[in-house]
Amino acid sequence: MEFETQAVHAGDRKKPTDAIPSTTPIVSATTYIYENAEQLEKIFADERDGLTYSRYGTTTVTGLEELVATLEGAEAAIATSSGMAAIHLAVMTALTDRPRRVVAAKQLYGTTMQMLTKVLGQHNIDTVFADPCDFDAFAECVREEPTGCVLLESVSNPLVRVPPLDRIAELATEVVAPVVVDATFTTPYIMRPIELGCDFSVSSSTKFLAGHGDALGGVVAMKQEHMPIARTLHRIYGGTMGALEAYLTMRGIKTLALRMDRQCANAAAVAESLRAHPAVEAVHWSGFADHPDVDTIRRLLPEGKTGAMVSFAIRDAGRDDVYAFLNALKLVVRGTSLGDIHSLISYPAASSHRELSPKHRARLGIGDNLVRLSVGAEAVEDITGDLARALEVVKGAPLPVNAE
Ligand SMILES: *Cc1c(COP(=O)(O)O)cnc(C)c1O
Repeated sequence: MEFETQAVHAGDRKKPTDAIPSTTPIVSATTYIYENAEQLEKIFADERDGLTYSRYGTTTVTGLEELVATLEGAEAAIATSSGMAAIHLAVMTALTDRPRRVVAAKQLYGTTMQMLTKVLGQHNIDTVFADPCDFDAFAECVREEPTGCVLLESVSNPLVRVPPLDRIAELATEVVAPVVVDATFTTPYIMRPIELGCDFSVSSSTKFLAGHGDALGGVVAMKQEHMPIARTLHRIYGGTMGALEAYLTMRGIKTLALRMDRQCANAAAVAESLRAHPAVEAVHWSGFADHPDVDTIRRLLPEGKTGAMVSFAIRDAGRDDVYAFLNALKLVVRGTSLGDIHSLISYPAASSHRELSPKHRARLGIGDNLVRLSVGAEAVEDITGDLARALEVVKGAPLPVNAE
């Protein structure tokens, strides 16, 4: 079946099992009742399937897990309470019984970076950072010492670099290190890391999957071989997704293909219009023919659907100019998330990359004049119009009074 059909049907319309929820659906019951105690015992002993307690799974969450596993081309998936819980679960699963060394992309979501350096580092798990778009240097780093796990993002934030996941998966197979991919920016509609040979495809479902800014969550899709450990750790960590979030996320995914088609097309138009704007110094978008990773993009991403994220640097702008620009926006929402149905803009230097020193940011190419735009599904001329009007502020031209 096609992606669009699977997005609408897979995992859905689950009938209640023979268990009776002790409270009412959206299945928010924590506890399931069986006719007799022996039946429950059989479930605990793994002699039969069934629901017992909501930290171990509920009908709604199981439906979402089945849906995401199907779309990712994965054998199994676990839904979690946030994207961070999903990344943590995947990394700890990958590291179980393996060398306590992570080779990670040097450009990662800010909190993921903190998890590695501030939390796992305290527990004797060392992380080495390298640039996965520089494949040879990355490979050298992976081969240098026994590696427990490789961690990277399908598209980097905020400069939208695209690493060669297929080659990295091959490399990891050679050294037997599981690959964890944070695929939040691409979604399985655009790229399926497990089909490329990676072990884990992790998403913050808060973003494109749920898509409406109303449900925090995460999902780990994985090869079956990792499922027993992941399931055990998940039950112990307890980062379980709530039934309402699972329901909202399933509902969101039903329109994922429609939204992505529209948002990618809008991103193309927005990126082109920004590039032509005199107040814009540089535009980063995965669809440009002169993108530094264009070979990888042509190999791994479908034509015309490379993503809805566009970052751009405002010419000669300091922080005050950037704030003046952001404050002049009337349609595009100022906020720190992405992937919603509405256009959303953030300022990496003050949000996702705030914890890094200005020098470190500069080394990553994240200047104080860079903003990150998640392009929504609005009429594209309203988005480009809003941006162009707000850019006038930076150019120093006074805003017309009562401009709407
Ligand atoms: C938002 C995000 C996360 C964290 O997800 P939460 O749902 O906020 O915990 C991780 N990785 C990327 C790329 C993200 O955009």
